[in-house]
Amino acid sequence: MIMTVAVPAAVRRNAQPFLHGEESAAVTAAMHAGQYGHGEITERFEDAVARFLGVDEVVAVSSGTMALHIALLDAGIGPGDEVIVPSQTFAATIQPILACGATPRFVDIDPATLTITARHVLDALTPATRAVLPVLYGGRAVDLTDVQDELDRHAVTVIEDAAHAFGSRHGDVPVGARPGVATCFSFGPIKHLTCLEGGMLVPRGSAANARRLRLLGITQSQAQRATATSYAVDGYGLRGTLSNVHAAVGLVQLDHFPEITHIRKTLWTAYAGALRTIGVTVIDLDVERTVPFHCVVRVERRDQVHRLLQDRGIGVGVHYPPNHQQPAFAQWHCPLPATEQTAEEILSLPFHPAMSISDVGYVVDALAQALTDTASNTEAIR
Ligand SMILES: *Cc1c(COP(=O)(O)O)cnc(C)c1O
Repeated sequence: MIMTVAVPAAVRRNAQPFLHGEESAAVTAAMHAGQYGHGEITERFEDAVARFLGVDEVVAVSSGTMALHIALLDAGIGPGDEVIVPSQTFAATIQPILACGATPRFVDIDPATLTITARHVLDALTPATRAVLPVLYGGRAVDLTDVQDELDRHAVTVIEDAAHAFGSRHGDVPVGARPGVATCFSFGPIKHLTCLEGGMLVPRGSAANARRLRLLGITQSQAQRATATSYAVDGYGLRGTLSNVHAAVGLVQLDHFPEITHIRKTLWTAYAGALRTIGVTVIDLDVERTVPFHCVVRVERRDQVHRLLQDRGIGVGVHYPPNHQQPAFAQWHCPLPATEQTAEEILSLPFHPAMSISDVGYVVDALAQALTDTASNTEAIR
């Protein structure tokens, strides 16, 4: 039956950007203003995000990866240092560690949430540990309070990869507003809030060093340089600024963020309910405090189910193949049983704000059918 019904357009994609309509005019206005680099619109966007999070200062950057890279440099991470990090994440979490000359120390995850816990961190601490990089997988806040004193004693910095978690909360505190923790958001194409490409760092302390790191090591602001005959290059720096044009998109998106929050929570809740009726395990989350980034299930015969659904035009995906098994990171491989088992079972269902509740029903019906079909195939092969 599924073969004969046209696949709804929205379920063909696993994820896609969601625009509200006013972004095009905002981009055009920013282009015609004639300043494409970091500028006044970027700074307005920073102020708006700081207000949204309830923090004093944030640093707009060119991507989530750049936010992580700058956060690590700002924490003084360099050669010889170890950074505790889950393997179960996008490669963008790991590469900035290597870019600093430091070493990733891969740790396992809680199979219920696919995030690291205080226990994983404690077990992995060594005298060389200088940072812990929890990944807020799917938007879930990671609570390391049980280990915070221990981390402080050893001068270990917590840098959150909150690429999935803009708008989520740690208890009552917004992700990004926890004192003593650096938080990195991505505003890439498919994230909760998009700048087309972009990112944001909430620094642990003063933002001055992070601002210098994003601008080639230059101390003076763009505005100061425009009227001066010289500037000072004070140290190492990257080209990591966020342009006015990208920030203009972000400002529009931030205005509409409450709608996006509502849609994502509604879709996830609909998925969780429908998946329960077909007996499929969904990776759980606290929907009260989490803006869900995706809907991830655990299934047997995952590769077959994935292929069948892809063949039927449904945009399923896998987030993510584990990093400790990647060729580039082979020298830091260690056995991670929960991550390895999870890697064979997880499947991300289509999830983005253009979907409707009936699209969710369509996907869940197709998944139920695929699970039946692959089970009978397996019988036949036996
Ligand atoms: C998207 C993402 C990043 C990187 O963000 P970019 O803006 O694409 O550089 C990092 N970590 C995770 C988990 C992500 O999903």
